[in-house]
Amino acid sequence: MPTVTMIGGGQLARMTHQAAIALGQCLRVLAASEDDPAAQVSADIVLGSHDELDDLRRAAAGSAALTFDHEGVPLHHLQALEAEGVAVLPPSKALHYAQDKLAMRTRLAELGLPVPGFADLSGDREAARARLVEFGEANDWAIVIKAVRGGYDGRGVWLVDGREQALAVFDDYPADAPALLAEQKVPMRRELSAMIARSPFGQGAAWPVVETIQRNGQCAVVLAPAPELDDEVAARAQQMAMGLADDLGVVGVMAMELFETVDGALVVNELAMRPHNSGHWTMDGAVTSQFEQHLRAVLDYPLGSPAPSAPLTVMANILGAPEAPEMSMDERLHHLMARMPEAKVHLYGKGERKDRKIGHVNIVGREGETVEAVRERAERAATWMSHGTWTDGWDVHS
Ligand code: ADP
Repeated sequence: MPTVTMIGGGQLARMTHQAAIALGQCLRVLAASEDDPAAQVSADIVLGSHDELDDLRRAAAGSAALTFDHEGVPLHHLQALEAEGVAVLPPSKALHYAQDKLAMRTRLAELGLPVPGFADLSGDREAARARLVEFGEANDWAIVIKAVRGGYDGRGVWLVDGREQALAVFDDYPADAPALLAEQKVPMRRELSAMIARSPFGQGAAWPVVETIQRNGQCAVVLAPAPELDDEVAARAQQMAMGLADDLGVVGVMAMELFETVDGALVVNELAMRPHNSGHWTMDGAVTSQFEQHLRAVLDYPLGSPAPSAPLTVMANILGAPEAPEMSMDERLHHLMARMPEAKVHLYGKGERKDRKIGHVNIVGREGETVEAVRERAERAATWMSHGTWTDGWDVHS
């Protein structure tokens, strides 16, 4: 069987390995440490750094495809590997747009996709500051400032409240950090994600569009499919994602994060060309999980069915509590299983830290159950796992 190499040893690689096992494969992982979530479980670990070309070369040697669990690999290293004949998937020419928010905004606008107005704040600081003031004034200071690269889970995004805060963010920003951009603050009803997969052969598959709910800029809950989303809007989101993947030559899975505006329009927020938090529900709620689909795509296998296996699935992230509960994770799991035998728990083997993604829970809805009811169960299960408290006040001993 072929070997796929994934760069990065986080939970996405860990769950991709899980899917690889079922396909008779073992995922090779370039991990920074033996303790990384994927390094704990794969038997084919290369220890090294994604910043070192030689480490990337060692990890790629003999593998059918080189792919990623994060966006951090320097583009010039990937171009060097491609020149040496490594199948980098998604290819560097596509991945560029997932690594660089300014390049992404510019390209999407060129392709006629709906994006918020934006201003480039890179280059000479005086001139960039003047562009920020001009852009801010033109938008009544309803703007967001973002690092062009390197941000994740809301880090590197500043939802500023007016001129003073915007200029303070800009002035305090270190000169040697990645460049900034400003964009219009979108008046939104909610956030959506359109996940698709594309193979080199050109086959595509789209899961139902989901709603993502963030807390402190970080994904907390996913409702699959997005409740009461107009069919036409959902189809448009899927078509935009699929068309863009085709235009950019993406191979593998891709998440297109979208805003649904208060007027019901769609605006593209950002792209991820790898398994994505908004696709974790597929592990228990769809015929083919995003992890299996990613492997199928990078190996140019025929894609699996993205059809949901139930009318409704809710995913809730297990986000570390401010202080880890006294009760051990093992005991919490035990209690959860006793109380909610239908909860599907996925733990990443990570230490508990405040707001850290340490696992997730999927609840597949029962026939006729409301989205509110399924969401309540998913969040109740996830909060129990992170905090060791039941949100409904239940007490096993009373
Ligand atoms: P990250 O790369 O950290 O996921 P995002 O660009 O997705 O960063 O931004 C994080 C969150 O900030 C989004 O999920 C959204 O809630 C909010 N946000 C980002 N851009 C805008 C915008 N233009 N208008 C309104 N809210 C935004």
